[in-house]
Amino acid sequence: MAINLQKAEFVLSAASPKDFLRDPIPQVAFAGRSNVGKSSVINRLLGRKNFARVGAAPGKTIHINYFRIDGAFYLVDLPGYGYARVSKGERDRWGKLMERYFADPELMTLGVMIVDARHKPTADDCTMAQWYRDAGRPFLVVANKLDKLKKSEIEPNLQRIRETLELGEENLVIPFSAEKGTGREELLQAILASVEPAEAATEE
Ligand code: GDP
Repeated sequence: MAINLQKAEFVLSAASPKDFLRDPIPQVAFAGRSNVGKSSVINRLLGRKNFARVGAAPGKTIHINYFRIDGAFYLVDLPGYGYARVSKGERDRWGKLMERYFADPELMTLGVMIVDARHKPTADDCTMAQWYRDAGRPFLVVANKLDKLKKSEIEPNLQRIRETLELGEENLVIPFSAEKGTGREELLQAILASVEPAEAATEE
């Protein structure tokens, strides 16, 4: 079955667990620190401009956005974290919402975690990786903003990401640039393989 990424539609924004989607369509969850480029990665993946909102006020959007992709899977945009200027109340709200989402991980076929290729992952990134690990579902890491690295920095930085997040062999780390499009194909293949495990998946 080929999936047409052009058939992407916003479904809903869940501010509390009662709004979580629980139908049997697989979910691919995206997480990342505010400003890491999560919206840009999603837009690049879907080949859209301004589909997921780029540059939304960081830390102000504590809800989970669901996009349906050609009826084949939900792309689940988890709220960004780690923005310095959020109140304790907002941080708590983030934690509670995530806790409830991850309490029920059966629907998540793949977790995608976006980090900044330039930097050592933060303590918040490590916490996020632990959420994914504890969910017991496969997850991969997208090292975004690769275009900002010198060639010689790429390998050591990817290695530092692996070590800091305590990734295993099974966790892919995909060098990515939402700006240039680097890594899109690899990310797409990993997602399609997770939502259509039986066949070699293709993009229409
Ligand atoms: P979000 O808060 O994680 O959704 O981040 P955004 O998608 O809004 O991006 C934050 C900023 O990083 C914006 O100014 C983007 O243009 C920029 N950005 C995102 N991805 C890349 C990338 O791959 N390379 C570069 N150079 N800038 C990027």
